[in-house]
Amino acid sequence: MIIYPIPYPVLELLGRIIVLSLIVFVILILVALFFLVVIFFTKRVILPKLALFMITMMHEPLRRLLSFFRVDPTLVDRVSVEIGNAVNYPEFVRTKLEERVLLMPQCVRSIDCPAKLSSLEGIKCIECGRCEIAKLSAICKELGIRLYISPGGTFTKRILLYNRGRVKAVVGVACYPNLYEGMLNIKLAGIPAQGVPLKTTGCVNTTVDTQEIVAKCKMVA
Ligand code: SF4
Repeated sequence: MIIYPIPYPVLELLGRIIVLSLIVFVILILVALFFLVVIFFTKRVILPKLALFMITMMHEPLRRLLSFFRVDPTLVDRVSVEIGNAVNYPEFVRTKLEERVLLMPQCVRSIDCPAKLSSLEGIKCIECGRCEIAKLSAICKELGIRLYISPGGTFTKRILLYNRGRVKAVVGVACYPNLYEGMLNIKLAGIPAQGVPLKTTGCVNTTVDTQEIVAKCKMVA
């Protein structure tokens, strides 16, 4: 007779719980994958809140699954950003221009950028004209929108804290993985965000679609 260190009924229960958890996990990832594929191929955001919830919950497993099948895992970030934009749109367009902030990544700057770093306001552009931020900075001043250049990941939180109560909406520019993370953090702070991806990525001399950024900043209902 076999003597189990754990009573047999407990082992059986544990086995059932593990099998059930696996089944639930597979169902969740299949549903998230369904949303991902449909939204990517049809370019239509169906059931946006549910889709965003499912893809956010299954974000890392989905990225690993795509990598396993040699599909670019940033596809998950790209679709998440598009859904986030759709979900946040109604709240975003209700805000005034002067309540909005444009957050630019520092990789857009010229490598000869003469701007100085401020601990509270990030990198302070002096509109030297060596990169596209000069144009965006001038347009933002006209529109009454505050522009910040983020020197790093935690800066977004600091800016939101620094401008607490004054920032009601954010337009963020970054590569898709950073946009996904940034938009999630901003959403957790209760602020609607719109994301605009970089035109060309990399860590230096990245490029942006200025017209698209300005169009996002100016969006109204
Ligand atoms: S335009 Fe602004 S951000 Fe761009 S290089 Fe000049 S000072 Fe730096």
